[in-house]
Amino acid sequence: MMGRDYRGSVSVPAAPSPAPRSVVVVGTGLAGLRTVAELRAQGFDGEVTVVGAEAVPPYDRPPLSKELFSRVEPVWLSGEGYGDLADLADRVLPGRRATAVRADDDGVDLTVGPADAGDPAQGHGAAGEALTLHADVAVLATGAEPVRPAGWTGAAELHTVADAAALRGRLSAGTRLVVVGAGWIGAELAGQAAAQGCAVTVVEAAPTPLHRQLGADLGARTAPWY
Ligand SMILES: Cc1cc2nc3c(=O)[nH]c(=O)nc-3n(C[C@H](O)[C@H](O)[C@H](O)COP(=O)(O)OP(=O)(O)OC[C@H]3O[C@@H](n4cnc5c(N)ncnc54)[C@H](O)[C@@H]3O)c2cc1C
Repeated sequence: MMGRDYRGSVSVPAAPSPAPRSVVVVGTGLAGLRTVAELRAQGFDGEVTVVGAEAVPPYDRPPLSKELFSRVEPVWLSGEGYGDLADLADRVLPGRRATAVRADDDGVDLTVGPADAGDPAQGHGAAGEALTLHADVAVLATGAEPVRPAGWTGAAELHTVADAAALRGRLSAGTRLVVVGAGWIGAELAGQAAAQGCAVTVVEAAPTPLHRQLGADLGARTAPWY
């Protein structure tokens, strides 16, 4: 509810919006998959289109750091009981990145890049045209991406199966690795790489590891993990 001193303009729809008949979901991570699965579970029988920058079906990200060297094949979310996009959606456009969205009273227009402009790290080669999708509703389930400071072009990241595969190829006994960020993923990667025989240095701006997540006291107790 708005406060009594609110002075901005308030737009009141002329008529109630009709129930949406088409939905486009951007992102094929857990949130995108669960959005589609839940729409169907709630009885939505309209058209569902899913656009995902990654070329592979939805998978579980936690094993990428926890089992970097011991599990090469992704843990597919369809096999974990979260639903299968291929069955749930009318159309799945993998390896394509949505680049613009425009919404008005008539629905949403979404500009989607060609297949080879999706996630460059995926290495998919299928050519494709840019296209515009129209739907009543768009759901942006685009997750989060690692923060890469300007100019750090040679640094690796760990967010996708492609990132994990690239890291596995670069890390072996004796490799010198600097991990920037002592959050959960940094901690897990440092531990996995050290167990592999890498010489690991962890750089963290905060006074202790996991400072933001656990606070100073508990964070300090995790320092021996490194
Ligand atoms: C290595 C690692 C370990 C983790 N471990 C844990 C853990 O132990 N416990 C825990 O709770 N969480 C963990 N997480 C976090 C967890 O994986 C995320 O919270 C979860 O993946 C979020 O799901 P999401 O669908 O919101 O986003 P994401 O999984 O990030 O999926 C978003 C998807 O949208 C796509 N996308 C983005 N922009 C566009 C665009 N413009 N057009 C098309 N597609 C786009 C991306 O390519 C991606 O596929 C971990 C994450 C990582 C990377």
